[in-house]
Amino acid sequence: MFSSPYPSEVSEIKPALLSVSRADFESWLQDHGAAAYRRAHVIGSVMRGATSFEEMRELPRALREQLDAAYRVTSLRPIAKSEADRSLTTKTLYELDGGHTVEAVVMRYSDRSTLCISSQAGCPVGCPFCATGKFPFGRNLAAHEIEEQAVDAARMLRTEGHRLSHVVFMGMGEPFVNYSAVIESVRRMADPERLAISPRRIVVSTSGVIPRIEQLSQEKVPVTLAISLHAARDELRDVLVPINRKYPVRELVAAADGYASKSGRRVSYEWVMLAGVNDSERDAKELGRLLRKRLAHVNLIPFNPVEETPYSAPSREGVRRFKELVAAEGLNVTVRDTRGREADAACGQLHERVMKEREAAAIT
Ligand code: SAH
Ligand code: SF4
Repeated sequence: MFSSPYPSEVSEIKPALLSVSRADFESWLQDHGAAAYRRAHVIGSVMRGATSFEEMRELPRALREQLDAAYRVTSLRPIAKSEADRSLTTKTLYELDGGHTVEAVVMRYSDRSTLCISSQAGCPVGCPFCATGKFPFGRNLAAHEIEEQAVDAARMLRTEGHRLSHVVFMGMGEPFVNYSAVIESVRRMADPERLAISPRRIVVSTSGVIPRIEQLSQEKVPVTLAISLHAARDELRDVLVPINRKYPVRELVAAADGYASKSGRRVSYEWVMLAGVNDSERDAKELGRLLRKRLAHVNLIPFNPVEETPYSAPSREGVRRFKELVAAEGLNVTVRDTRGREADAACGQLHERVMKEREAAAIT
């Protein structure tokens, strides 16, 4: 019989601990003669950064060995790391079960630590300026694979004496094309027994999947919603964010308004600045007309250059000028710092570099 040399048959691999439901894990513990309260010990150890069952010294040795025979502590395998901003930014590329890869970026500030997390391997939306969108779509992540990125970041920060305080869904993927796993992962990250990150400190960024924004308005998870706008007129947004052809910009803003009024949370509008494309006075005026008198905040993101795209970043002066034009429209506007540029930090860029290196290694 043909046998594959690659260990990518997921069914042959031990399940990852965080993929197992509470009920299933409790009944496993019972079957192995351990008390149900051991579940909280094991989960607590993972949340505090244990990377093996062996480290869980408060558990009896036999139980540690049985756990090790049955489960993996995490399903993520870190395969590349890059640092930037004098080590204030760390980007990790993880391999998932089945072989796809995703990125997560830790950003350290004086008053908080933020993780930029991935929800999909690749992205089916295909924005032409985005490194992630250039690769063929891989797959949705399961809730535990999203949570494991946060657990690993929290572990890394803990060794430095810090706590993971904020999470932004701005890594690879469109979170609202993977809605149920994303919401499940938010609930888990917020769980006081797990990482205890308040949903208010979790930003979900979307290119604009209207039905899911409406669904979010019905959930009791008060995350901060960020809308990747990038253009205020359909004609331009149809090109920059192709999902706009299905969910046009005015309807998108109406859905975001619905979320703002239901949750009382200010919506944040992202605007990646592409020189000569969406940074003119006309763009600022259109944005002003679209968002005036709303509970909104505009975040300008200078474009992080991606090879083989027709776009370039505006100059510092260009960014300042556009910011003033937007502020003159009466909008609340800030410029996002360009953290992680050297760490290939715009979504998909480390993945892109590693894939190119792999291709080159395969050729030589
Ligand atoms: N898919 C979601 C979330 C991931 S992208 C979304 O699009 O909102 C997170 C943010 O990074 C989005 O606002 C996206 O437009 C922006 N982005 C993507 N590529 C970028 C680049 N090369 N430079 C700057 N921002 C980029
Ligand atoms: Fe997908 Fe967001 Fe990149 Fe667009 S910007 S391709 S929606 S990850």
